[in-house]
Formats: sequence, structure tokens, C-alpha cells
Amino acid sequence: MTTHKTRMLIIGSGPAGLTAAIYGARAGLSPIVVQGLQPGGQLTITTDVENYPGFRDVIQGPWLVAEMQAQAEHVGTRMLWDTIVDVDFSGAGKAGAPFRAIGDSGDVYEGDALVIATGAQARWLGVPGEQELSGKGVSACATCDGFFYRGKKVVVIGGGNTAVEEALYLTNHSQDVTLIHRRDSVRAEKILQDRLFTHPNIKVLWNKRVDHFVGDTAIGGAGLTGVALIDTVTGEASLEPTQGAFVAIGHAPATELFKGKLELDAGGYVVVQPGTPKTSIPGVFACGDVMDHTYRQAVTAAGTGCMAALDAERFVAEHAFAAKG
Ligand code: NDP
Repeated sequence: MTTHKTRMLIIGSGPAGLTAAIYGARAGLSPIVVQGLQPGGQLTITTDVENYPGFRDVIQGPWLVAEMQAQAEHVGTRMLWDTIVDVDFSGAGKAGAPFRAIGDSGDVYEGDALVIATGAQARWLGVPGEQELSGKGVSACATCDGFFYRGKKVVVIGGGNTAVEEALYLTNHSQDVTLIHRRDSVRAEKILQDRLFTHPNIKVLWNKRVDHFVGDTAIGGAGLTGVALIDTVTGEASLEPTQGAFVAIGHAPATELFKGKLELDAGGYVVVQPGTPKTSIPGVFACGDVMDHTYRQAVTAAGTGCMAALDAERFVAEHAFAAKG
């Protein structure tokens, strides 16, 4: 067991954590980034990125985050392969690396300031067949997996912006896309609704919830063959044949670690003071999707990562902690 001390401890290695690291390293805080279970975060399961400023041509999500990591390391960040399994904030307000985190490896990480950048993950329905057929027809990421369903019939479940965007995206690959929603109206923004309702290759099944996924889970088997539905108004059961189902019912922030230790909102997101990355504990900062359920973009995550580092830097300077990087 090793104890790693730093002036700035960062949990999470997506664009928020890596941007915080770049700023923190350049400010001389010798940050440590503990990478977590999915190093690079959600960008690593994205393909084309066309809206990250500075790149005229289409770039790839995994490439972008690898470049961010290389830059963070180049300016002096230590990237460590570990997953934080517990945190201890009882030292808050005291001098000398007050924030402790325990890694799955048994290593201990101590920071004068802590930046939480653990991100969010797609939510699942939790119905029978979903987990068993995951990767065999059931997916939570159309941009990652849509390509595999070229020319096939696919469905998207959900009625928010993500679901509608995924349905529209899937029309690049499939001429037969069905959106399945549990109510009779979608909450996606108007411009997306207009595109959805006028698209010739998308149909919408209203008032339907997924009861279970149907298919063959054997290796080399058919995979997903259909989605068993229940009408939420009449209770009637039906089967929608499909080879690809994309679950797009929102995201859940990765904040299990912080329950009871930090103020979280009803959705589990870290509460920050409006317009800042400051959490309910001075010296603990949150950035990226773990505190932002509205924008959820790589560029906004990077922006709030920068803010977290600048505020962490000020916090460390004001408290003149003794820990060595
Ligand atoms: P949302 O929370 O906005 O929507 C989730 C959808 O899934 C809702 O329609 C909800 O139904 C449905 N749903 C939730 N749970 C279940 C369930 N158990 N069974 C069936 N359906 C379910 O999530 P999104 O990921 O779409 O968006 C999250 C945020 O990110 C939003 O603020 C959105 O605006 C933003 N976003 C913005 C984008 C953009 O600007 N381009 C792109 C993507 C997201 P119901 O409506 O009945 O509650």
C-alpha cells in the first residue's frame, strides 16, 4: 500500500478531469489523476466528434481524449490506474492534505484540494433480457454502435433530446427506425421534434413501455429479435420485432462514493454553488457531467474542469497547505 500526496487530487479522467489536470499542472500543483473504471470517460465510447472547437475535420472521441491525456502528462500530471472506492472528507478545514481517497488497489491518495470529475453513465431500463442482450442488439449508444445495424430495423427507447437525436442519427444507417416512448408526447426540444416528426424513415410508438427484451443470447445466436411492449394506457401487450434497441432514457451521475459525504441533488448530481464548481465542502470542487445534467458536452466539461482547477489553485494558495507534490 502506497500513500500518494498531491496538492490537487482529481478523480476521473474525461475531458473535465484532464482539463483540470492541465491547468493544475501548469499552476505547479503537480496533480494526480485517478483514472477510474473507464479511463477517458464517455468520449471513449463516442465515434465522430464534429463540435469540439479547433478541429475543422471530423475527429474521433478516443483520439481527442488521448490527446488531452498526453497534454496533461506533458505538463506534469501523474496519471494513475486505480479506481476510488471510498473517500474521507473528515480532514476538511484542517491543514495538510485534508482530502483522502482510497483506491481499489489499496493505495491511499491525499490531496490539499479535490476535484471530482467522475462523470455520468447511461441509465438502463432494468428489465429482463436487457443485460443479457447488451452487446447482442441492446445498446445505450447509437453513435458507438449504430453502424452495426446498417440496413436493419432498429428502435430507440425514450423521449428526451438524447432519444430523438439517436433516432435521427440512426437514419444514417437504417431506413426503419422506431422511437418507443412511454407517454404521448416527447420532452425533446422543438427543433428536434420537428425533425423527428417529419422524417420519412422514423415512426413513433406512443404510450408503450418495454416489458422485456426478446432474443437468443447464445454465442453465435441471433441476438436481439424483438422488444416486448405493454401499452401504458390499455395494458395491451405487443411485440415489436427489431435487431437493434437503443436505450436512451437519460444518464446517472457517478456519485455513489459521495452519498452522505457531499450535498447531492434529487438526481444524484453533485450540487455546486451556481456558476462555480464549488461543492458543499470548501476545497472540494466538481466539474463535468457529474455536476451538469443540462449541457453534458465535452467542451462544457472541459470548461468546468478549467474552472475547478482555477478555484482549487486559489483554495490551495489561500490555505498554504504543506503537502508536497
Ligand atoms: P432526459 O431526462 O431529458 O429524458 C429521458 C427520457 O427517457 C424521457 O423522455 C423519459 O420519459 C424517458 N425515460 C426515463 N426513464 C424511463 C424508463 N424507465 N422507461 C421509459 N422511458 C424512460 O434525458 P436525455 O438523456 O434525453 O437528456 C438529458 C439532458 O441532456 C437534457 O437536459 C437534455 O436537454 C440534454 N441533452 C441535450 C442535447 C442537445 O442539446 N443537443 C443532446 C442530448 C441531451 P418521460 O418524458 O416520460 O419522463
